[in-house]
Amino acid sequence: MAKSKAAKARPRDGRVSDMVRVPRGPVDLSAFDTTATPGFDGDKEAGKVALADLGPRIADLQEKLFAEGATGGRRSLLLVLQGMDTSGKGGTVRHVLGQVDPQGVAHTAFKVPTAEEKAHDFLWRFRRALPGPGMLGVFDRSYFEDVLVVRVHDLVPKQTWSRRYATINRFEESLVSKGTVVVKCFLHISRQESRDRLLARLDDPTKQWKFKPGDIDEREYWGAYEQAYADALEKCNTDSAPWHVIPSDRKWYRNWAITNLLVEHLEAMALDWPKPDFDVEEQRRRLLATE
Ligand code: ATP
Repeated sequence: MAKSKAAKARPRDGRVSDMVRVPRGPVDLSAFDTTATPGFDGDKEAGKVALADLGPRIADLQEKLFAEGATGGRRSLLLVLQGMDTSGKGGTVRHVLGQVDPQGVAHTAFKVPTAEEKAHDFLWRFRRALPGPGMLGVFDRSYFEDVLVVRVHDLVPKQTWSRRYATINRFEESLVSKGTVVVKCFLHISRQESRDRLLARLDDPTKQWKFKPGDIDEREYWGAYEQAYADALEKCNTDSAPWHVIPSDRKWYRNWAITNLLVEHLEAMALDWPKPDFDVEEQRRRLLATE
């Protein structure tokens, strides 16, 4: 029964990237349903099957990107993951990036800046972590924290953080112009779902290590974060690096959608296997002439 349901479930036509892309203009996060599954008709089981189906495709594309980088190409892809606490940034990395060769992934989780990082301009630590040629980079939190947590907790004056939207846009534009495809995802969960996930962490001895008492205090700022996110999603929603809102109350959908986004962006890069810079027949003859 469950099997036939899974077999029947099909992704809907069209690019998932287009379906979850944030339209230009003011953003009202309450208008985005955190339980929606844009582009997918089916349940959790079907979603897991569909994700597994995408595995070989994303692995093949990532290997082509890596091969291009290893043979002189300059292009790369940067996945930027943002979301409230418990929105599933870590789970996304495990389930989505876990499908590709780890040697081609450059993952960085950004925490509270260190003293050294604070001594530089806010983009310094991100520039140092950018993916090199052929790499699939992942920023688990990013320079957007500098207009999110920093704004919500008044860590710098408004005059400072409000200038950063334009700085971020210029930074992303320059990355794109140098051959990095920037894919920005806001993992959108409801306040209730976040509460349930924190409770699950408390209830499960294997998850208690993830719980921080401060996460409960942070919930007081939920509305302020929503406003800060809405502004970041509006002001940094450019043609070169648009925002995507990923409904993330359903983890299986989040994983499927982000895998699709990566597949679609990698496919748009028209990657191909590099041509050898040697004569294959000549090398075959040489090899066969050896013992
Ligand atoms: P999880 O979401 O799975 O709980 P995490 O990403 O929250 O993991 P933590 O080490 O708990 O990991 O959190 C990193 C913290 O760093 C966050 O609270 C975030 O707000 C904070 N942070 C990131 N960038 C900055 C910044 N520029 N200034 C101040 N705090 C920052």
